[in-house]
Amino acid sequence: MKNRLHLGSFELCWLDGGTFALDGGAMFGVVPKKVWEKKYRADNENFIPLAAWPILVKTPEALVLIETGIGNKLTEKQRKIFRVHHAWNVPADLESLGISREDIDVVVLTHGDFDHAGGIAMEGPSGPGLTFPNARHVIQKQDWDDVLNPNRRAANSYWAVNFEALKNTGNLSLVEGEEHISKGIRVIHTGGHHAGHQVVRLESQGQVALHLGDLFPTHAHYNPLWVMAYDDFPLEVIRLKEQWQRQAKADNAWFLFYHDPFVQYCKFDEEGTVLP
Ligand SMILES: [Zn+2]
Repeated sequence: MKNRLHLGSFELCWLDGGTFALDGGAMFGVVPKKVWEKKYRADNENFIPLAAWPILVKTPEALVLIETGIGNKLTEKQRKIFRVHHAWNVPADLESLGISREDIDVVVLTHGDFDHAGGIAMEGPSGPGLTFPNARHVIQKQDWDDVLNPNRRAANSYWAVNFEALKNTGNLSLVEGEEHISKGIRVIHTGGHHAGHQVVRLESQGQVALHLGDLFPTHAHYNPLWVMAYDDFPLEVIRLKEQWQRQAKADNAWFLFYHDPFVQYCKFDEEGTVLP
């Protein structure tokens, strides 16, 4: 387990869903390297380290998992392309907390990119099966349309192998717009990164946390204008980040990060510096 946060009666645990690396330029879009590298260090080939660490939310009502990690189905070639430094270890990490895969009640996916959806199904004796067989998997209907009919860009990152075991099962729970998932947990459709992207809002005993998924992938993406080349609708991402940052300030909310190996959760000062 990578980290832990208490939020009212909720406990959040970051699980080991794998680490990988992507081109820093693609992660920071039009921002010049000389500027972004002051906030996030690249290696000598310009790659930056990224986590894919699912967030387990233990509430008095349910065990909810936000995202699923990169999974264990990547080929040798894919592991090389995405520089998977550290393999997916979610089932063992759960066990260390006394929780089995079968205990997870709800899985929330912000969107279907392989680095979020790779852990939906895991390799087993008879091929890939659902990793969390008793969980309702919450996905925006719009994103599921991209899973079934990926556009030219989504075709690269929405891998059929991750969704096969979920298709035509009662585990698939398609939602539209804003939906209540469990007491204190809501998903909200945003678009931006992809058309069907959603975010998660957690609230317990007056404390609030926001998981903005790939609208806000690492602490270094605080500036609303610092958006990824991977975003399908960059102007929308800019607008959404401004809107959610205003909302977070009003709620004194924590930001939760899935891709950031350095900062799993934080609040910011006015200049965007991570508060200790
Ligand atoms: Zn991502």
